[in-house]
Amino acid sequence: MRYPLTALISDLHSNLPALETALADARERGARRYVCLGDVIGYGARPRECLDLVMALCSKEPVDPAAAAGSEPLAPGLCLLGNHEHALLNSAEDFNPKARAAIDWTREVLNQGEDHERSYAYWDYLGSLAPSEQDERALFVHGSPRDPVREYLLPRDVKNPGKMRDNFRRMDRPVCFVGHSHVPAIYFEDGSLHRPDGTEGPIELELGPGKRAIVNVGSVGQPRDGDPRLSYALFDGERVTFVRLEYDIQSAAAAIRAVSELPEYLAERLAIGR
Ligand code: ZN
Repeated sequence: MRYPLTALISDLHSNLPALETALADARERGARRYVCLGDVIGYGARPRECLDLVMALCSKEPVDPAAAAGSEPLAPGLCLLGNHEHALLNSAEDFNPKARAAIDWTREVLNQGEDHERSYAYWDYLGSLAPSEQDERALFVHGSPRDPVREYLLPRDVKNPGKMRDNFRRMDRPVCFVGHSHVPAIYFEDGSLHRPDGTEGPIELELGPGKRAIVNVGSVGQPRDGDPRLSYALFDGERVTFVRLEYDIQSAAAAIRAVSELPEYLAERLAIGR
């Protein structure tokens, strides 16, 4: 069976305008499968709506809410456990105060309202997320192969060959997709680094023994590489396409400012991409 064109989204962080823009674009580009690398929630103002979309698309029996009747069904998707889901389910004690405030508020919002069934569905889904998953081509984690929920991979890590080597040792697939640092990049096993310059691809990964790759898809909901446009990626089994798109930052920021529990900085940073 051919590898389904897979949209890889990560670090949505309750940013609904960014998520809707990314999903509409992925659909237009022919995505047949959706994989979310974690951090659906945290920081932003629309945790329920973002979870609704992820639960519909990134599950073993996905339902595309926008697909026309009679179209080919989507391939089974996935969602990984991010550190913000982990904090929501366990404790946010090790989070900075701004991130912790957002986790505490998110917990309340997921329990709010008369629809208790929906609240249970959110907690069931969150509780079902695994820290790592794989298919025939790729390993999927939120952070890194050796520490799937917490470790950051950043461009400066190419100067730390021990860290990179140890991570490649934990992979038994040619490619690993990660998020968490919110900085899109390809880390090759030979120590080289590729940082995409905006929308770029398809990039032939030329995967093989000794030529594996760790691909960071960037962040949909809170980019931190100085480019405020949302970031996500597509993978066809061999090639990766990075996508950067403008979205309605004003509306995402206004939604955060409308919630008194969410720190103002979480709205400000969206416009500067930090
Ligand atoms: Zn994140």
